[in-house]
Amino acid sequence: MLLGIIGAMNEEVIQLKEEMILENTREIGGYNFFKGTLLGKNIVLVECGIGKVNAAICSTLLIQEFNVDKVLFTGVAGALNPEINIGDIVVSTDLVEHDFDATAFGYDYGVIPRMEVSKFQADKDLVELAKNVAIENFGKNRVFMGTILSGDVFVASPDKIKWLRDTFNGECTEMEGASVAHVCHILNKPFVIIRSISDKANHDANMNFDEFVKLAAQNSKIIIEGMLKGF
Ligand code: SAH
Repeated sequence: MLLGIIGAMNEEVIQLKEEMILENTREIGGYNFFKGTLLGKNIVLVECGIGKVNAAICSTLLIQEFNVDKVLFTGVAGALNPEINIGDIVVSTDLVEHDFDATAFGYDYGVIPRMEVSKFQADKDLVELAKNVAIENFGKNRVFMGTILSGDVFVASPDKIKWLRDTFNGECTEMEGASVAHVCHILNKPFVIIRSISDKANHDANMNFDEFVKLAAQNSKIIIEGMLKGF
């Protein structure tokens, strides 16, 4: 089995990169795909860059060029659910592209016209594994399951949080997950998105992000490594 692991930023992949046994690096279009083993499991690790398009390109390459069997995403996010604190874990049950807006044609927000699915379901077994590993490491009060919202927006306002909660009822928001999910849905690959909270998507979000990105990235990485032991 070959596992694809994606993170958006250096902070989110650097620790896994340092701990893996690297066999080779292949560069495609500026993205570096690191192939090797981590905790004895075969992986391809890639830093996809920020935003939905970068994440879609990398997920597609990971699946088409490397033929990975499953896709795991590790990273940080802004909390939307007020019960979720910095450092807590969110495991995706499903994901929505919150910035998709064809409401002028009568569609609901987040609905992609002419597609049967706009809410992409994560793989149940991967979700279960991620949840168990997360609870083992962080305790059940710090682990949340639910919808993750993605868009090409760094959310940093209470009004936007309220709109996202009222419209989609998401647990957290970030900029890549739903596009990875979209690609995995189209190409029929099981996936799960793991996020640890770096900020609360409010007016302090940018400052909190800078302060907590490393800690949150480390938390998410712990889940990925715990999951590897389960394969
Ligand atoms: N400070 C960075 C930009 C970070 S963009 C720089 O200058 O390079 C935020 C990244 O973290 C994205 O990859 C996104 O997935 C995630 N993220 C964390 N908090 C977020 C929030 N409040 N809104 C949207 N994305 C968030």
